[in-house]
Order: sequence, then C-alpha cells, then structure tokens
Amino acid sequence: MKQISWQDQITSIKVAGWQKLSLIDYPGKMAAVIFLAGCNMRCHYCHNYQILDTKQNRLAFVKIFDELRRRKKWLEAVVVSGGEPTISPVLIPLLCALRSLGLLIKLDTNGTRPDVVRQVVTMGLVDYVALDVKAPPTKYLSMTGVLIQPVLNTVQLLKQQKQIPYMLRTTLSPRLTASDLFEMGRSIVNGALCWQIQQCRTEGAYSVAEVQKMVAIIKDYALYVVVKGL
Ligand code: SF4
Repeated sequence: MKQISWQDQITSIKVAGWQKLSLIDYPGKMAAVIFLAGCNMRCHYCHNYQILDTKQNRLAFVKIFDELRRRKKWLEAVVVSGGEPTISPVLIPLLCALRSLGLLIKLDTNGTRPDVVRQVVTMGLVDYVALDVKAPPTKYLSMTGVLIQPVLNTVQLLKQQKQIPYMLRTTLSPRLTASDLFEMGRSIVNGALCWQIQQCRTEGAYSVAEVQKMVAIIKDYALYVVVKGL
C-alpha cells in the first residue's frame, strides 16, 4: 500500500500563525517561527493563551511554505512552536515539508509527548529541541495542570541522545522561589547540556539582582546556564 507523503497532506495542514523573522528563537540563527495551536497544559502565565484551542489553526500552511521557499536564502532556520506542537496530528508532515527546504529546524515543546520527541529526533526531522521545564515535581500539577512524569521522560531522552543539541527552559514565574529553582536543578536538570532561564512576560518580573542570585544557586546543574531577557 502506498504511504501518504507530506506532499499529499500539505494542502490540508493548518497552523495558527507565523513570524517571518526572529533573531531570538533559534540560538544564533535567523529564523522564521510557525505556531501550531492547541496545548494540553494550562500554565497560569501563558503568553500564547489565544492559541490554546486547536480551532485557532486556520491559516493554510501551504501558503507559508511557498513564502518560506521564496525567502529561504535570507533565513537559516525555522522554529516550530505553539501551543504544544507534539500533540498536533500534522506535526510530522509539516516537519517533512520544512525539511525539504534545507533550513535548520527547531522544535519547542512542553515535553508531555516523549514518544513524539523521540520519533522526530530519530527520523532526523529536527536539529534542535527546546524543552520547557516549568516547576519542581511537587508544583508541576498546580502550575501546569499536568503530571510531571512524561516531561521527566523527555528530559531523560534528550540527555541520553547524542544526535542534536537541546536546551531546557524555565520561565521565572513569580510562583517559583529560589529553593524551587534549586530543586529543579537537583532533581530534573542535573547534567543537562543547557538550561535557559527567562523572565516572565505576563506577570511580575524578578529584579536583575534576584535573577543573578538564582543563577548562582543553579549554575552547576547544566553545562551552560544562560539568562534570556534580563
Ligand atoms: S505549555 Fe506553553 S502554550 Fe501551553 S499553556 Fe503553558 S505556556 Fe501556554
């Protein structure tokens, strides 16, 4: 039986939106960003709450794809973000289509579908993964609405694979304390390649001095600890 190819599916793929150029979403690269609506978490600080429902996937991806093809000489990469892209049934054909453009591909994920992350890494469909680590184990359910175990499995598989670089990311929610960060470093991040701490854009931000104090506490838990948006 003939397998369905991404070319067969591309006209039916819908996404929530896209950004033509970002200098901050793929480390060191000029990237476009594609947003897939739908998310299985409910983070209290969500900055993309308009696209938590899959009904917001209304834009024809094929039009974006054609524009990316025209603009690819000015781009180095494309980021697939959300929402949560790994719960989307169109993620694989969408990544296959982007792969055909010859651009680097980064996936942003909340880590709740380790099977999908493993699949896209194994298939060579992504060059970089950014995985959100949102809270210490005791606060995960209350801060996100989901249990932590699948996220831990995704952290583990990214640490174990050697195919691609990755980063773990934590948004500094005002509900996280310095001891929460320490616990996350000790029990989740420990031994990771890169841990990016970023200021919360929707609720009160920590002062520079407070962030620096947190970084001093956690700096040994990843090879690189970086701060975004200080
Ligand atoms: S995982 Fe991301 S998109 Fe989903 S609710 Fe949390 S912040 Fe919003």
